[in-house]
Amino acid sequence: MIRYIFFSLLAAAFFPMSEKTTVDTLFINGTVYTVDAAFSKTEAVAVKDGKIVAVGKTVELQKQFSAKQIVDLHGKYLFPGFIDAHAHFLSYGLSLRIVDLTGTKNWGECLKRVKQYAATKKMQATEWIVGRGWDQNDWNVKEFPVNDSLNVLFPQNPVLLTRVDGHAAVVNDVALKLSNVNAATTISGGEVIVKNGKPTGVLIDNAVDFVGDRIPAPTEQQIKDALLGAQKNCFAAGLTTVDDCGLSYGSVLQLEKYYKSRELKMRLYVMLSDNKWNYMAIFKRGKIKTDYLNVRSFKVYADGALGSRGACMLQPYTDVKDHYGFLLSSKEHFDSVASVIYKNGFQMCTHAIGDSGNRIILNTYAKYLRGSNDLRWRIEHAQVVNKNDFSLFGQFSIIPSVQPTHATSDMYWAEQRVGNERIKGAYAYNDLLKQNSWIPLGTDFPVEDIYPLKTFYAAVFRKDAKGWPANGFQKENALSRADAIRGMTIWAAKSNFEENEKGSIEKGKFADFVILDTDLMTASFEQILKAHVLKTVCGGETVYTR
Ligand SMILES: [Zn+2]
Repeated sequence: MIRYIFFSLLAAAFFPMSEKTTVDTLFINGTVYTVDAAFSKTEAVAVKDGKIVAVGKTVELQKQFSAKQIVDLHGKYLFPGFIDAHAHFLSYGLSLRIVDLTGTKNWGECLKRVKQYAATKKMQATEWIVGRGWDQNDWNVKEFPVNDSLNVLFPQNPVLLTRVDGHAAVVNDVALKLSNVNAATTISGGEVIVKNGKPTGVLIDNAVDFVGDRIPAPTEQQIKDALLGAQKNCFAAGLTTVDDCGLSYGSVLQLEKYYKSRELKMRLYVMLSDNKWNYMAIFKRGKIKTDYLNVRSFKVYADGALGSRGACMLQPYTDVKDHYGFLLSSKEHFDSVASVIYKNGFQMCTHAIGDSGNRIILNTYAKYLRGSNDLRWRIEHAQVVNKNDFSLFGQFSIIPSVQPTHATSDMYWAEQRVGNERIKGAYAYNDLLKQNSWIPLGTDFPVEDIYPLKTFYAAVFRKDAKGWPANGFQKENALSRADAIRGMTIWAAKSNFEENEKGSIEKGKFADFVILDTDLMTASFEQILKAHVLKTVCGGETVYTR
């Protein structure tokens, strides 16, 4: 007994309780991938006031800290919270309340889903019916549908059904009439498809917006529901930061309202859309930066998408004679916005899919960036790049921001569009990575699924969920596991100028983590497909538990 007391006193003398620092939470006994510069691995993390105060071995941190709460990870895998460098957070949230047409096998199935939706919602006669997610490339008949049966089903309600990529839509005749669109209508940067002298109801790019602009704006309550719905699903997917690529300044004001009420806790990096009101408002106010919201960039569209053949190509499409796709604005427009964005010290992020779209934007950027720089101007998608243009990314420090699930969604038909030569410069993530030695990854949700583990799977294995193709699609452009994880964390943070506050598990950064049941560094592709997010922590607060 005496000896026991002696040792206790001795222990207390060496490690007096008063010298232990109190923290909020200690995460112990984990497999912690810090994603620091050395990609080092450790066991434990101490968190106080929403930030990481120490990272190290379990025994060391337990000696140093006393914690209000201890989370035993039982060997599970802790990564920095995932960052989606290219998504549409608000529009994903809004899409949760429209007809979901993803995964439909044919046009008939689309019609069936729309009919069911309209029946359950008890729509008013003049109310718009909106849907999204069909992809004719997944159907047996790969041509665009015509709206005949849609007109029969809905003679009164205007209907707009957007393709999965948002760059094409089918509308009924009521919607066309409301928008004064007929066979003779021309829309710059868009197309009204006409057959036998009559619009088929299929609209491409700017023509989609032309009709879509007639849809009444969502109400205040619908926007709030959308934001909170998107947040819930994103936290469950392990995301702690999302880049929203293209919002209005008005939407930013709404975000601020829900941050203030503490209902919105997802960190957002917002790119404002290319619209004169947005430029005026933000240049007057200046950049916005809080722990949750960062507004310092603009999203511009060069061209459309490959699936709807709106992507602007240097040579005609392989599967449609003399068709090049098109730019969504003039070269002069891209130059003038680059000039004003540069002058105001903002970041320019431009959607470019076709090799011509990419070349025009690379050259526009080069004119202002002039050489190596740290302005981090981004090309979103950088999907089909001419082999002579890759070096421009490195030469002018232009950041390709890519979405690996686009490669595995498009691999079934992309070569038909561009042929066997150009396809080699498509979805070329490893070649793009080499240019600046870093590359941010995203999903483009709701175009693709929100789940970042699918991004990891597509980037590393270049296969679909059935494991096809056996050797992976253009496997030479797969990323290593470590680089894919960096792309979803620290490199995504860097593309947002936030690498000093998030993207790795290091002292002083936000306590943003995701805990997985599967080791991304060693699991087989089958195991990755079955991996789960167990817990998501944002700013030290558990925001999701499985
Ligand atoms: Zn997008």
